[in-house]
Amino acid sequence: MNRLKQLRTIFLTCVTFLTLVPFNSQQAQSPSDRKFADLILHNGVVWTVDSKNSLAQAVAIRDGKFIVVGSNEAALKQRGPKTQIIDLQGNFVTSGFNDNHVHLASAAQFLEFNIMAVSTQEEFVARVKEVIGRLPKGEWIVGGFWGAYDEWAEGSAGGQRREHFAPDMTLIDKITIDYPMFIRKFDNSQFAANQAALRAANIDLSNPQAADVEFLKDSQGRFNGHLRGKGVARLFSTVAPRNFSRERRVQQTKNALAEIARFGVTNVSDMSDDAQLDIYRELHRNGELTVRVHFRPGLDRWKEFADGGIRVGSGDEWIRLGALKGHIDGIMGTSSARFFQPYSHDPNNRGRWRPLMVNEKGEFVEGKFLGYMLDADRAGLQLTVHAIGDEANHLLLNYLQELNKQNGKRDRRFRLVHAQVIAPQDFKRLGQLGIVAEVQPFHLSDDMRWMEERIGHERSKGAYAFRSIQASGAILSFGTDWPGTSASEYPINPMLGLYAAVTRQTTNGKPELGWFPDERISIEDAIRAYTYNTAYASFEEKIKGSIEVEKLADVTVLSRNLLRVAPRELLKTEVIYTIVNGKIVYRRREL
Ligand SMILES: [Zn+2]
Repeated sequence: MNRLKQLRTIFLTCVTFLTLVPFNSQQAQSPSDRKFADLILHNGVVWTVDSKNSLAQAVAIRDGKFIVVGSNEAALKQRGPKTQIIDLQGNFVTSGFNDNHVHLASAAQFLEFNIMAVSTQEEFVARVKEVIGRLPKGEWIVGGFWGAYDEWAEGSAGGQRREHFAPDMTLIDKITIDYPMFIRKFDNSQFAANQAALRAANIDLSNPQAADVEFLKDSQGRFNGHLRGKGVARLFSTVAPRNFSRERRVQQTKNALAEIARFGVTNVSDMSDDAQLDIYRELHRNGELTVRVHFRPGLDRWKEFADGGIRVGSGDEWIRLGALKGHIDGIMGTSSARFFQPYSHDPNNRGRWRPLMVNEKGEFVEGKFLGYMLDADRAGLQLTVHAIGDEANHLLLNYLQELNKQNGKRDRRFRLVHAQVIAPQDFKRLGQLGIVAEVQPFHLSDDMRWMEERIGHERSKGAYAFRSIQASGAILSFGTDWPGTSASEYPINPMLGLYAAVTRQTTNGKPELGWFPDERISIEDAIRAYTYNTAYASFEEKIKGSIEVEKLADVTVLSRNLLRVAPRELLKTEVIYTIVNGKIVYRRREL
């Protein structure tokens, strides 16, 4: 079983969470014991991520902040009658991981059900049984995205093809009588429905011409739930709920928060919908939010947020607003990232621009996207823009220069989101323009399956070129893009990202020396990119991102010393404690 599957199985079979202590129901302390710590962690190797890269043995925490970072003795001096003391037994501690890029609503849905990497009918049936075990009758099951790893197995460096898998819906019809299921192949080329869904959609199997739906037969000539044709998605959009109920989303969110805590992540930057923001607010009010959220709506909505008084720094330590996210091109997974030259495997394709770059006919409009940038920037909002192909990144840097010219230079911390393929001449501009490269290093482990096949060797030199980005003077910030695209899965686990950044290998250790090994970075720099630098990226480095007195007490305790272990061991490193605002939100079962 490969690593990703293993992680998922572990999650599904033996998840253990603490009963969370609500954050707002903290017991009032009497004035006489105010001076003591709430929590002391001692006997550890504390990598503080401060500017001197200091190490400490212990920390003492009070009211959600560090009050001592130093020796065991100094921390234990803060011990009072109610202080919780944890002996770290030599384990490694670092600042809580801050993931620069998640799509939490999709991740939460994805955790509930997905069959992206499923390759047998047995696995498929098992996955369906799991999901119906968790849902009340009548709930729809959607998504699925089967086949995403058919052509390039997970963890492979490319070239490994395996047999195509398609779910046989007849195998699950009996157990899903009360659960309509409408799922899709990762590339949307095919759909599958169970009997309950066909019934809900009123599909008449005896009349295949109806509604522009084609019923597909398997190799034995049977109909096994597979559908194709323009009418399919349209037909089901009228019967399947467009959005899950609030109740189901709250439950999905709680499961996602547990997953986040289990991997030592204490902050995320999320790009979900407004309903998700609302759920965070509700959880926060109830003392159930266990991760700090930096929330980024779409750039096209700049006026709405500006008029609502939102600026950089708006919100509080738990839910931070003030940044907007825009897109200028597509993604590598579907060969839609925008390049100067055509794709190597598709000579007529250079990728495409996103809607804010074009007119109704899809033609590029000079200055349209820049207009949004200028307006949002003038309104005091932070800009963060998705660019993947070399032309997209190049153009965005031009826009940034124009922004400096028209709105004047200032500390913008412009976030170049993904920054995946940079043209050689553009690296120096990254530093000159003071950008934050909001990258997700595990993309490289996953994408190298097909990167050179799609853009060739030369262009690949500028792909995920973390050392060059750092050397330019730009700030490197890490995260995951959890849960990934419909073609690739990107788990929330920071160890995968740290491993990718220091090895540039697949999870199976290929290629032996790493893919373009000159672009590997040190583990120290990688941890910094995942902690302090992501706090910097949201203008919050003064209050979090490192273990220093007065900063917010967000901490991850790990089973191995990340600074000492062989890179392969990073993948075996487990989280022992996750602490947010001085409270334990996850504890490994066996200690
Ligand atoms: Zn994303």
